[in-house]
Amino acid sequence: MLGLMQDQPLLISMLINHAERHHADAEIISRRVEGDIHRSNWGEVAKRARQIANALGGENLAFGDRVATLAWNSYRHLELYFGISGSGHVLHTLNPRLHPDQLSWIVNHAEDQVLLFDMSFLPLVQAVHAKCPTVKKWIALCDAEALPADSGIPGLVAYEAWIGAQSTDYTWPQFDERSASSMCYTSGTTGNPKGVVYSHRSTLLHAWAAAAPDCLNMSSRDSILPVVPMFHANAWAIPYTAAAVGAKLVFPGGALDGKSVYDLIEQEGVTMAAGVPTVWQMMLGHMEANGLRFSTLKNTVIGGSACPPAMLNTFVDIYGVDVLHAWGMTEMSPLGTVCVLKGNQAGLDADAQRAVRLKQGRAVFGVDMKIVDPESGAELPWDGKTYGDLLVKGPWITQGYFKLDNSNLLVDGWFHTGDVATIDPDGFMQITDRSKDVIKSGGEWISSIDVENIAMAHPAVAMAACIGMPHPKWDERPIVVVVKKPGAEVSREDILAFFDDKTAKWQIPDDVVFVDAIPLGATGKMQKMALREQLKDYKLPGL
Ligand code: AMP
Repeated sequence: MLGLMQDQPLLISMLINHAERHHADAEIISRRVEGDIHRSNWGEVAKRARQIANALGGENLAFGDRVATLAWNSYRHLELYFGISGSGHVLHTLNPRLHPDQLSWIVNHAEDQVLLFDMSFLPLVQAVHAKCPTVKKWIALCDAEALPADSGIPGLVAYEAWIGAQSTDYTWPQFDERSASSMCYTSGTTGNPKGVVYSHRSTLLHAWAAAAPDCLNMSSRDSILPVVPMFHANAWAIPYTAAAVGAKLVFPGGALDGKSVYDLIEQEGVTMAAGVPTVWQMMLGHMEANGLRFSTLKNTVIGGSACPPAMLNTFVDIYGVDVLHAWGMTEMSPLGTVCVLKGNQAGLDADAQRAVRLKQGRAVFGVDMKIVDPESGAELPWDGKTYGDLLVKGPWITQGYFKLDNSNLLVDGWFHTGDVATIDPDGFMQITDRSKDVIKSGGEWISSIDVENIAMAHPAVAMAACIGMPHPKWDERPIVVVVKKPGAEVSREDILAFFDDKTAKWQIPDDVVFVDAIPLGATGKMQKMALREQLKDYKLPGL
């Protein structure tokens, strides 16, 4: 017997229809690349999304054709999220921080047909457009007056003119909810980037899950600043979930420095902000240097890389802002776990609670996870100590990469995350490392994240990366590469002494190397491959 409920496909257009009908006045604020602050609302976004759909209808595209964006977080990018996917095309968000050759490789691989870009990326588009033969139309996200007379890009049009000519009437089409809605290439530290393809169904389920109190806890009472870019893993679902709950959104554009982010939080009454640790490092540095406080911020979501304990402590103890530590991957839409204490942990003392809150958290409903022995594949116990390869499954987790042979990607339906983790008896997962970053010393594993977290707690350290160096006896030994805070004085010996009593002796790094900067990847993560390359002539002390 089948149920007697309405059988309605889960489509992204449902989100924007809902936002328009029930939250039309909720504000959408953007710091634009033009430099000003632009004020819009969900009603406007919905109207313009329909104009986008009509404009795309005139571009001779087929259902499922890819339409790419190269843009910062803004109202225009938001309306494209809905206009492109809602009309049955596939939104392909491109990461502008990639090397031009990598970018054109991705555009060609995805066979993008239309590409819309922020004017700040004009030089990048000028560098790559000739190498992107699939793109039939280039659109600059600007007013007609701002379009340069001689851009060198054939047929370039201004976005505002392109949609401005269109009717705001449009009926979103109904189709199979499993149809592709959007795609995003992983940053790919080895080999070519890989295309992750989301569906309407996966996106809606993920957006629903994200709103829950033990997940991102988003509501119509929130003013949310996604610093995490909309070109990286759907900005952690925030654009979609905000439409579902009718939250106010505040977009930072390309101004991600500490002052700009802090000012926007204060000016727009932001209650929740989401981003990677490197962004918060810059903002906290600005606040400390200028003696600033928050007046409205209640929550920060920190993910993408491990949240250093010193950062969590600063947010919670100094600024009274709660931290939601979250973990996920592009392949997971991206949310996998969020760290929120369970009811039975309320009685733990403050230190024990803090230790739990530093973990990456519990599985969001919809995601299942387990840790397995890397050799045998046998499932490992949830004792908070045993670590193994982390595997996940669920309806918003990838089962294959675009145009690749995916026959061996899943193991009995589980996706290999490439992360190494422990899970405790309460189900809190803690990432020890990326499997390729774990340091193997004398048959034991040393977590590079643990070493980095200790180094980062030193008051003179702005950023720290721990990598393994070859050692004839121990196989590998850890060293820590440190960027000092501006004006700070600290010696190698000071930093090594700081590790005493904080970790086992054999886990203390053998050396400290000071550098001006640690290479960061296109999504703000430390690039350990590049760092290893930079230190290829380095030798451990005494060797
Ligand atoms: P990406 O697909 O570029 O978002 O990268 C996903 C990877 O980032 C994961 O597999 C983890 O290695 C890492 N990652 C994401 N969030 C965290 C976190 N909270 N702590 C540690 N690593 C994280």
